[in-house]
Amino acid sequence: MKERIHNFNAGPAALPLSVLEEIQTGFLNFKGSGMSIAEVSHRSKWFDEVIEDATARVRRILKLDDHFHVLFLQGGASLQFCMIPMNLLPEGRSADYVNTGTWANKAIKEAGIQGKEVKVVASSEDKNFSYIPKEISFSPDAAYAHITSNNTIKGTQWASFPNTGGIPLICDMSSDIMSRPFDPSPFGLIYAGAQKNLGPAGATLVIIREDMLERVPKGLPTMLKYTTFMEKNSMYNTPPCFAVYTIQLVLKWLEDTIGGLETMEKANREKADLLYQAIDESEYYRGTAEKESRSVMNVTFRLPSEDLEKQFVQQAQEHGLVGLKGHRSVGGCRASIYNATTLEAVKALIGFMEEFARKNG
Ligand SMILES: *Cc1c(COP(=O)(O)O)cnc(C)c1O
Repeated sequence: MKERIHNFNAGPAALPLSVLEEIQTGFLNFKGSGMSIAEVSHRSKWFDEVIEDATARVRRILKLDDHFHVLFLQGGASLQFCMIPMNLLPEGRSADYVNTGTWANKAIKEAGIQGKEVKVVASSEDKNFSYIPKEISFSPDAAYAHITSNNTIKGTQWASFPNTGGIPLICDMSSDIMSRPFDPSPFGLIYAGAQKNLGPAGATLVIIREDMLERVPKGLPTMLKYTTFMEKNSMYNTPPCFAVYTIQLVLKWLEDTIGGLETMEKANREKADLLYQAIDESEYYRGTAEKESRSVMNVTFRLPSEDLEKQFVQQAQEHGLVGLKGHRSVGGCRASIYNATTLEAVKALIGFMEEFARKNG
C-alpha cells in the first residue's frame, strides 16, 4: 500500500488519521451489531447513539445554550444559500449581506433568485476580494446579516465577527467551523458543509437559534423547512448516516485528543504562522491576501510566473504534497491547512518550498 501523503486539499480534505483507523477497525462489525454503520437502520439504537453524541459534542465544543438547535442536513452549504432566505427572510423585509468572494456572492444570488430583497452592505470586490471589509454599517431593520467567516478560495478570514447591533448574524462557516472558539450568542444561524473541517461530504451542520424558527413560513416544501428537521431531530427522512458517524468521531478527536477549541486554535495558528512566515521571508513567494485578513485555514500564494506555479504543483505532488493548486477560478497556489493537517505536513511543505525557490529562483 502507498504511504499516506501530505494532503492540502481544500475540500473534501484531510481527516485525522486516528479517525480513519477507528472507522476501519469497526467497519465490519459496528459495536457488536454484526453490521457496518453503513448498514444499520437510522432508526436503530446504534445510529441513535451516534447522532445523539455528535449533537451533544457540537453543543459542548461550541458552548451552545438551549436556545440553539443542532441539525445535520444534506445538500451542502450551497442548499443553505437557498434555505436561509426562503425560511428566514420574510416578505417585505430585507437582509444585509457582505460580499467577500465566490461563496458569499453565491449566497447573495440565491436570495435574489427568490425575489428576496438583499442589500450588499459591504464588499471587497474593489481589491479582488483580498481583504475583509471593516466598519460596516448594517441596516437597523435588516432581517439578518450574512457573512462568510472564512473565504476558502481567496484565503481571507474574519479575525473577529462584526457587531451588527443586535441583528441576527448568519454565517457560512464551511471552511473554519471548529477551528477556533467564538461567542455564539450573536448568531441566528451558523452553517457548514462537513467536508472541510468536520468530516466527509454529504452532511451539512446547521445551528439555528430558537427565535429564528418562528419566521419559517408555513407553506414551504417539507424538505426545505428548518422546522421539519428540528422537530424530527434531523431524522425526518434518512440522514447521511455515515457522514454523521464520521463527524461524531472527528468531534470526539477534537475534544478528547486535541482538547477542544482553544488548543485547536493554537495548533492552527502555529501552522499558519510558520507558513506565512516562510512566504513573507522569501522573495520568491507572494501571499495574495492582505496581512490582517489572512486565513488561518487556506493559505493562498503566487510564484513569479504561472509556468513556475504549474511546475511547483507538479513537483510538490511528486514529493508527496498534494492539493496545492489554487481554485480554478483564481489560479495560483493554495495550501489548505484545516484542523486535521499536521504541523509535520506544514513543515514538509515549507521545506519543499525553500528547495523549489532555491532551484528555480
Ligand atoms: C466549500 C464551500 C461552500 C460550498 O459547499 P458545498 O457543501 O459544496 O455546497 C460554501 N461556502 C464555503 C465558505 C465553502 O468553503
